[in-house]
Amino acid sequence: MKVTLCGTRGSLANAGPQTVRYGGNTACVEVRGEDGTVLVLDAGTGIRALGERLVGASRIDLLLTHLHMDHIVGLGFFKPLFKPDMDVHIWGPPSATLDMRHRLARYLSPPLFPVLIRDLPCRLTLHDVARERFAIGGFEIMADLVCHPGPTVGYRISERGVALAYLPDHEPALATGKVPTDADWTSGFALADDANVLIHDAQYSDAEYGDHAGWGHSSVSHAIDFACAAGVKHLVTFHHDPSHDDDALDRIIEEAREGGEAVRRERITQAEADAAEIRQRAQEDARLAVERAEAELRRRVAEFSVDMAEKIVERNLDRETQIALIENYINSVGNGSRT
Ligand SMILES: [Zn+2]
Ligand SMILES: [Zn+2]
Repeated sequence: MKVTLCGTRGSLANAGPQTVRYGGNTACVEVRGEDGTVLVLDAGTGIRALGERLVGASRIDLLLTHLHMDHIVGLGFFKPLFKPDMDVHIWGPPSATLDMRHRLARYLSPPLFPVLIRDLPCRLTLHDVARERFAIGGFEIMADLVCHPGPTVGYRISERGVALAYLPDHEPALATGKVPTDADWTSGFALADDANVLIHDAQYSDAEYGDHAGWGHSSVSHAIDFACAAGVKHLVTFHHDPSHDDDALDRIIEEAREGGEAVRRERITQAEADAAEIRQRAQEDARLAVERAEAELRRRVAEFSVDMAEKIVERNLDRETQIALIENYINSVGNGSRT
């Protein structure tokens, strides 16, 4: 799987020398499978240049997380949609009110855009994503609703045991201001669980989040906490606020990384304390087990001595027979059975 970030900005494009390192185009990611399958995640302004490179493909699957403008504004400028021999499948979250075609038509129709969606020359198929696994080419894909205003999904894309999670607009810290640690209570957890790469919303600095709680986005620290909780191997911060230039992003990410290091160290210390407690409990259990075994042995020896004394008296056994009986008993105790 090869992943290329074509647009990393959130909300509104901000292209120019001040965003040249982190990127100024809005959300768009190209994912190529080993068998040549092409997935495009979201259709922000980054999709225009990507479309130039994809005109030679025969099928493209475009996976939309939701229909906010920063994720669909590039659609009208995506060249494959204007090629008659091209199969384009657009996948997106279901809505209780309007189907995908009618929702996209609100943008792809005058006065906002001159071309109607029904007049696009490509062979276009629209799909509501189900909240279950489905396949596109060699990819296995899982979609699930995540915490963001309006119907919004995140995606987990797997190929040969490697998983990419894509949650560009996501606020798992809504309500408490902190990312929960319990998997069952964390939006998007199953999508990101143990993923190799997580592309995640990181719109705000910690200081900015307070004024934007409930807007559907995360701070960089939230993205780090969410990635740590889900056991992600590599986090890619994404959906950067248009007001953050490259230098501001360097600063915000460095601050969050230092905070993340402290959290990580704290977690390691806690894990070590937990391990020490488990070791101590195991030693105590072992000591009690030895004590129980010794008591049982003492009881059995006493029982045997009483039995033996009775037999000796009853049958008037000679010394050799007494010794043989005792040896026989000792052997049976060694074999774990009782006489
Ligand atoms: Zn967005
Ligand atoms: Zn959004």
